[in-house]
Amino acid sequence: MHAAHHWDRINGEAQCRLCPHACVIREGTTGRCGVRRLRQGMLSAEAYGYISSLAMDPIEKKPLFHVKPGTEILSVGSAGCNFRCSFCQNWTISQEHPPLSRLAPRQLIEEALEQGACGVAYTYNEPLINFEYLLDCARLARTRGLLNAVVTNGYIQPPPLAELLPLIDAWNIDIKSLRPEFYRRFCAAELAPVLETVTTVASAAHLEITHLVVTGGNDDLQQIAELVDWIAGLSSEIPLHLTRYYPQYRWEAPATDPELLCQARDLAKRKLAWVYLGNLGQGDDALHCPACNRLLVERRGYHTKSVSITEGKCPQCQRRIPGIF
Ligand code: SF4
Repeated sequence: MHAAHHWDRINGEAQCRLCPHACVIREGTTGRCGVRRLRQGMLSAEAYGYISSLAMDPIEKKPLFHVKPGTEILSVGSAGCNFRCSFCQNWTISQEHPPLSRLAPRQLIEEALEQGACGVAYTYNEPLINFEYLLDCARLARTRGLLNAVVTNGYIQPPPLAELLPLIDAWNIDIKSLRPEFYRRFCAAELAPVLETVTTVASAAHLEITHLVVTGGNDDLQQIAELVDWIAGLSSEIPLHLTRYYPQYRWEAPATDPELLCQARDLAKRKLAWVYLGNLGQGDDALHCPACNRLLVERRGYHTKSVSITEGKCPQCQRRIPGIF
């Protein structure tokens, strides 16, 4: 058993304080995420050291387009999620019980070094519910010169987030909608804590945002415009990935219309400097300087062909490019 952090004992039960659900957990049962169980009066982090997936991926696939373009990152996932998205694109590991294997933090970091990864990405299922494993791996990765990237729904309480912030170099946070009713209906969660996390992370680390455009859910330009306005209010420099949905899990509507995604991109580009489309196949996602239009990163799909950024700036006009290069 690995002791969980961030919980209180209340009348023989546990109240988990890791994410905003704040589950009250009876002896022998787990919270909503399925990986934090009360055992003999102690809250156990059940997923600690258990993984469902491990792969060397282009970092662009996370998606992180402004972090070490052209490198590969060792990507690790476990099981469980604190959301219940009916359109989940990774439901076999987030909502079911996938086969798991053991991988201690030290083994994960050795693997990343052996494979020449630029760092470790905590991804695939929701990594924040495996907080203790993420914390231990991230600390070790730091000591060995690897960067840490988290791909998340952003559903975490402020105290554990504050503990993670100094260790995580890059975040990709999924904002599913700017409407609270969408989060309640489709994800069984609340919007406000996600926006709080995004706001905190934006001022502390490199942040990119993903927005999955779900047919029959949030696929209208008015909703996307609301999201773009909110992000622009935080910073017009935050990269936004508008991603194509495919029918998965309990949502059978057809895949997102590519034409709608292109309209959404054009709309977003009026307010944000960096907007990309995702899950569309081998599209051309070249990165041009918004000030002088110089080609900065040439890529096709997830394959980066060339990078021309000097000390975080456009080599032609010296405009600052947000990210880690
Ligand atoms: S992390 Fe899990 S157990 Fe803890 S509050 Fe969130 S859903 Fe509940």
